[in-house]
Amino acid sequence: MNIHEYQAKERFRAAGVPVPPGEIATTPEEAEAIARRFGGTVVVKAQVHSGGRGKAGGVKLAKSPEEAREHASRILGMEIKGLKVMKVLVTPAEEIATEAYVGVLMDRKTQAPMFMVSAEGGIDIEEVAATKPEAIRKLRVDPRYGMLPHQGYWLANALYDDPGLVKQASKVITQLYQAFVDSGASMAEINPMISTTSGEVKAIDAKMSIDDSELFRRPEVAAMRDTSDEPPAETKARDAGLSFVKLDGNVGCCVNGAGLAMATMDLVKYYGGEPANFLDIGGSSNPDKVIAALEIITADPNVKAILFNIFGGITRCDDVANGIAEAAKRIDIKLPVVIRLTGTNEEQGIKILADAGFSAFTSMDEVVQKAVELAKA
Ligand code: GDP
Ligand code: MN
Repeated sequence: MNIHEYQAKERFRAAGVPVPPGEIATTPEEAEAIARRFGGTVVVKAQVHSGGRGKAGGVKLAKSPEEAREHASRILGMEIKGLKVMKVLVTPAEEIATEAYVGVLMDRKTQAPMFMVSAEGGIDIEEVAATKPEAIRKLRVDPRYGMLPHQGYWLANALYDDPGLVKQASKVITQLYQAFVDSGASMAEINPMISTTSGEVKAIDAKMSIDDSELFRRPEVAAMRDTSDEPPAETKARDAGLSFVKLDGNVGCCVNGAGLAMATMDLVKYYGGEPANFLDIGGSSNPDKVIAALEIITADPNVKAILFNIFGGITRCDDVANGIAEAAKRIDIKLPVVIRLTGTNEEQGIKILADAGFSAFTSMDEVVQKAVELAKA
């Protein structure tokens, strides 16, 4: 789950990271009022789940409250990488001396948090990584011990020569690690971490992604979810307890179990088709889940055929069949549906579906080939 800059800044502040104050506006008038309260120059910043806002014109300096209103009216409603800006953060502007990059992410290769820091921070860090990797210092943190003091210093030493700045940066890096761990994050980033003209180190941008599996034990973090720039199908799937990933093909897949769902997608491709989605309805055969799954699949205009692949184990085929029959009563399915049911209570399941006007099969190859043909026809 991605969170907004202003939310990441709240998490950073809670861990002690020095972050300038800021308030959220949803209208130009609110932005003006906030700017007036802060006084002086402010920065108006688009809040969307995307980087590169500065380059897209989503970060603007305003010397007066009126100018803050003007910038806010241009930024609110703007699209950045396909995402519509609904909120802006208004924050006092800092006098920047230098901009550095500090990030930590869960690294799969080393199975540990990995820090990356660079003195060449700011808006072009991706380019630095691509063209000048030696300008980035990396460090793996052993999660059993956490960030050790000398490690923070070693990283901070790559950023500054001045011992006062190194000391502050080392503290910020350690606090960032704390925010990362406390939030169940998979990535946390300060870009830029600035030194001000008066010699203070601060985080003026913040980015954080939360590991979805960490959310259940952190309701205060889960509450930060903003679905406004999320595809509606994903919101609906999550609310219904389905694992769903939209893809670009035309065979809509509805499968129980993540492994079987992956195997089904492989087989669709093997027979020359393209899956429209990954969808795991899980172990339950709750008709509401089947209905939600069908609603999500049929809402995708690319889908030309629907493929059910159900392997009955703990999930009973008759339960799933009832779910499909019930769903067909409640929603008008105009697309061809191909069903494979096998395992626990398959005969009952096939009979229930036959009564509801569907034919179900037991061979996976057979139904996948059928679905691919129907989607092409
Ligand atoms: P991003 O482009 O989405 O990463 O947004 P950032 O928050 O990183 O802002 C982009 C750039 O705007 C920064 O690298 C700074 O150069 C500039 N900027 C952001 N906040 C301030 C500020 O408070 N004062 C000044 N002078 N520049 C700022
Ligand atoms: Mn940034």
